[in-house]
Amino acid sequence: MPLTRNDLARLDAADPLAGHRDAFDLPEGVIYLDGNSLGAMPRSVPGRMSRTLGTEWRTGLIRSWRGPEGWMTLPHRVGDAIAGLIGAQAGEVVVADSTSVNLFKLLAAALAMRPDRRTILTEADNFPTDIYMAQGLARLLGDRAHLKVAKRADLAASLDDDTAVLTLTHVDYRTAEIHDMAGLTRRAHDKGALVLWDLAHSAGAVPVDLNGAHADLAVGCGYKYLNGGPGAPAYLFVARRHQDELTQPLSGWLGHEAPFAFEPGYRPASGIARALCGTPPVLSLSALEEGVATVAAAGMPALRAKSMALTQRFIELVEQECPGLTLFSPRDAERRGSQVSFRHPRAEAVMEGLIAEGVIGDLRMPDVLRFGFAPLYLRFVDLWDAVAVLKRVATAIDARGAAAS
Ligand SMILES: *Cc1c(COP(=O)(O)O)cnc(C)c1O
Repeated sequence: MPLTRNDLARLDAADPLAGHRDAFDLPEGVIYLDGNSLGAMPRSVPGRMSRTLGTEWRTGLIRSWRGPEGWMTLPHRVGDAIAGLIGAQAGEVVVADSTSVNLFKLLAAALAMRPDRRTILTEADNFPTDIYMAQGLARLLGDRAHLKVAKRADLAASLDDDTAVLTLTHVDYRTAEIHDMAGLTRRAHDKGALVLWDLAHSAGAVPVDLNGAHADLAVGCGYKYLNGGPGAPAYLFVARRHQDELTQPLSGWLGHEAPFAFEPGYRPASGIARALCGTPPVLSLSALEEGVATVAAAGMPALRAKSMALTQRFIELVEQECPGLTLFSPRDAERRGSQVSFRHPRAEAVMEGLIAEGVIGDLRMPDVLRFGFAPLYLRFVDLWDAVAVLKRVATAIDARGAAAS
């Protein structure tokens, strides 16, 4: 039986997360399938920003840094809230800098923890910034570091006695394929290597159990499924057992044991604070705290269940209505994150047509149409309405192509 719009409306009526959509201020006339690139705006953010500006900045001025609810504790407070979403404990996650910068800090720290090894191992299809940052670090360290890039299928076999750290993105940004975090971490540990996971496309959409997998280090993004707003700061995780030996190269004053003692020499703070560098971005952190709260309020098991149902129905609908598109994501929902990619020979024109009609996904060149499904604020009927537009746009483009050839 083909799916109908009514089938999808019934799924919405039974959806335990349906009420969470109200926590977002969504624009009219848009079906937003790009929450994996920039999450939607929580309704609570404007009020929070206005308190941060009016009460904390205008009135509190410099006094707002201090105190238990003060700005100085924000990186830790928001970090602890994120820890609860990724299988980490309080005190193992802190919010700081960007994902790229945190990769640099933790890759350097990993090499320092394995002084007799030189290799950073990653996969060729990793997100470009992850590779670029490792290249930059290897260049800086000269003979002390070497970047090895392997194909996905060859990763485990590429681990050897020189591997200091294996660094991978948990959910592939293009295909949404999920790596076996526990399995690969075990393989790396068996070879004496550390593992650094990038959770950019996981946190807030796919359950992660860092401590359950015995992960060593991780980084992730605040503005995707965590709804922290454009350019929201990123977070990093350092397993408790590594914190006392962590040395990271961006040894700024806020990672110092006593920042306000103004000592001439650097002494790393105890705990996760030593992973900090400079002054926290308070405005962005305040917005991110609201975004993280939207995810925490729903809970990861419910979010994952709805995300799998959304991506599954979307694949069924596209294959039912749009035969010219080829699935580029895993068909097995267990192996798939919260986005679905399809290939089309004229993907760029198709995505342009979709966006012109208010269906916002994105394009990964040359021929990949990528659709993200944020389970907090998407409805099942949105899938039907989006695929109806996709069918119209793709049919017109295919007909034009056929007429031209
Ligand atoms: C989005 C994303 C990033 C972003 O890094 P920034 O430093 O925030 O620009 C990094 N890695 C992966 C895998 C991503 O998907």
